[in-house]
Amino acid sequence: MYAIGIDLGATNVRAVISRPDGDFLGELKESTIKDGPQALIDQTMGLVDRALGRSETGLKDVEGIGIGSVGPLDMKKGTVSPTNIPFKEIPIVESLSDRFHLPVYLLNDGMAAALGEKWFGIAKGEENFAYVTLSTGIGGGVYVDGRLLLGKDGNACEIGHLTIDKDQKLKCGCGRRGHWEAYCSGVNIPNFVRYWIEEKNEKNSPIVEACRSGSLTSKYLFDRAKKKEPLALQIVEELGRYNAIGFADIINVYDPSLITVGGGLALNNERLILDPIRRRVGEYAVNGLPEITLTPLGDDVVLYGAVALAFHPEEVLNEQS
Ligand SMILES: [Zn+2]
Repeated sequence: MYAIGIDLGATNVRAVISRPDGDFLGELKESTIKDGPQALIDQTMGLVDRALGRSETGLKDVEGIGIGSVGPLDMKKGTVSPTNIPFKEIPIVESLSDRFHLPVYLLNDGMAAALGEKWFGIAKGEENFAYVTLSTGIGGGVYVDGRLLLGKDGNACEIGHLTIDKDQKLKCGCGRRGHWEAYCSGVNIPNFVRYWIEEKNEKNSPIVEACRSGSLTSKYLFDRAKKKEPLALQIVEELGRYNAIGFADIINVYDPSLITVGGGLALNNERLILDPIRRRVGEYAVNGLPEITLTPLGDDVVLYGAVALAFHPEEVLNEQS
C-alpha cells in the first residue's frame, strides 16, 4: 500500500506518493497559489493527481492522505488559517476527502516534521525530543513521554510566537511584538538588522548600504558572515543569542534529550546558526542540555511527516473524515 503526503507551506506546496518505508515514488512541488482558498485547494488536488500519475499508482492502492500545513489550524474542523496566506479557515480536509474518498489527516507542519523525524529520521526510539524549524517562519513539534503534543486545536507548539524580548522592540507577522519569529525568522531578519544598525549607529559596511537600498535579505547577511565580515558576524552572534533563548525555553518546558533543527535558514547555514545556540543555550536553560543537531531529512522533513501521518494516524488520534 501507499500513502499521499502533502506539505502545504506559505512558499511552496508539495505532494508525494510514498511506500511505508519512506521510499518516494512520484513527487511534485509548486509555488503556493494565494489567489483564494479554492485556488489553493485546486492546486493541492492537481498536485496529488499528477503525483499519482507519475508514480503509476491508483487511488485504490492508497491508504490515506497526510497533510503537514503551515499554521495556525483547527484539527477538529480540518481547516487551515495560515499567518502568511491571506485567507481564514480553508477547508482542506473536507475538500480532499470529498475528492479522493480517502481518510485525510491534518497536522501543523512543525508537528508533522516531528512525526517524520520519529518514523524516518534521527529520533527513532526517542521518547522526549523536539523539532525546530528556522525558516521563513519559526515553528516546531514536541514529543513528551512518547506522545506528540497536540493541544486543543492542534497548535500546541507555536514556538515562533514565544516572547523572547520583554522590551518588544520588533513586530511579528502575527501582529504582536517581541516574539522569537520577529527577530530570527528568514523574513524578519532584515528588520532586526535595520534595528541594530540604527541602534548602534553603524556606518561604512556593505550591510548598511544593502539596508539603505532595501536590498538586504537574510541570505545576504549570512553570505557576508561566511566571508567573515565583522559586522555580519556580530549580528549573526546576537541572532544566535535570541535563538538560544528560544531553545532554552523549549528545554526548560519540555525537557527533551534531543532537538533536531530544519528549515532553510538552518540547513543553509549550519555552523553560523547552530554554533551560537549550542554555545549560549546554557546561559538560559536550567534543565540538562539536549543534543542539538540538524535533521537528516533536510527539506523533506515535513513530507516525511505527512507520509508518517497517513500510515500511522493512531499517533495523533485525529481522524477528521
Ligand atoms: Zn508572533
